[in-house]
Amino acid sequence: MLRILLFISVMCPAILSAQNIRIGLFSDKSIKELEGIVGKGTYFVFKDSIQLAKLGSADVLKATYSAGMVRVLVNGVEKGRGKSIRLIQDKQEDFLQLRLISPSAKQRSYEGDFDIEIRKEALNLINNLDMETYLEGVVESEGGPGQKLNYYKAQAVISRTYAMKYWTKHKENGYNLCDRVHCQAYLHHRSATVTIDSAVHQTRGLVMIDQAGDLYPTYFHANCGGQTSEPHYVWNEEIPNLCSFKDTFCIHTQQAKWEKKIPKEQWTKFLVDKYNFPIGDSASNELLNHFKQEQRVAFYLHPIYGIPLRDLREQFKLKSTFFDVDIVGEEVVLHGRGFGHGVGLCQEGAMNMAKKGYTFDQILGYYYPQMKLVDRAVVIYK
Ligand SMILES: [Zn+2]
Ligand SMILES: [Zn+2]
Repeated sequence: MLRILLFISVMCPAILSAQNIRIGLFSDKSIKELEGIVGKGTYFVFKDSIQLAKLGSADVLKATYSAGMVRVLVNGVEKGRGKSIRLIQDKQEDFLQLRLISPSAKQRSYEGDFDIEIRKEALNLINNLDMETYLEGVVESEGGPGQKLNYYKAQAVISRTYAMKYWTKHKENGYNLCDRVHCQAYLHHRSATVTIDSAVHQTRGLVMIDQAGDLYPTYFHANCGGQTSEPHYVWNEEIPNLCSFKDTFCIHTQQAKWEKKIPKEQWTKFLVDKYNFPIGDSASNELLNHFKQEQRVAFYLHPIYGIPLRDLREQFKLKSTFFDVDIVGEEVVLHGRGFGHGVGLCQEGAMNMAKKGYTFDQILGYYYPQMKLVDRAVVIYK
């Protein structure tokens, strides 16, 4: 049965003003040199309030780290140096194609303005743009192509809630969030996917809050295998509102089942070395032959042995902790369900719900019990 408790609080949209967010790009790289080419429109290059250059479609901007400064060249001619350089778009849909030269990294396109700053003897590249435009890029990066509108709407609300909840996560880096899965994948600006644009637009400003009025914890994963996980099985801590339940929407989907074979010697060596598993004890040894999870549990075999399933998942690079074990000859055969940590929203289940005609608020209500949708203005200004 759907566990839906839903109140949509509609605030006057007129009070919403556009909010900008700062995203660190290529944030896992120590950038020494990058190149920017205008993909559409015009960009103005500023150092403080001084305009250094105007970039049109054929112009190539190069920014290099040089003795604690950003050195700017346009078409090979130096235009200036500064601690901080700003690239400002002329119109809202103008975008830049950015490529790292040192270290090299594939070209990506982003809308909005850019700041190139100095941090730890390298360039800090920051995309400064409207929150909703950022979300279009995130929904596409996180949700992949070809999904239904209501799935993308659910993803848009999740991503907006996450961005608001972790607004200061990268404060010490000079931006709000990074572009990687560490925060939310943001690998490009929106493409021409009308469905995604509409999903963001139609949920504009909406975030999820819990009963205490706090922004909701938006954990999600690829597939829960038919039962979501207790957060403390994964991270040793409880997360308010999120707890395990049976998910009937994902069990026939793509990543519902997996199998893996591991040499028995490797498996038992790990158990003995790390957990002192009493391999010489015949009763314990017998237990090893067969392990079944009717429902998700936290420990392998029995809690008495103190072997968390999450450790096995990490050690043997398993898709999930939701697996059964049989020993066949010299092999350990794992029959698993699901992909990911299992906490919160199950993406394949949510995609399936959208295909079956459920609305985005029903999908969110199913995976995030007790959530309420509110206009983010309520959260910010309450
Ligand atoms: Zn991050
Ligand atoms: Zn599921």
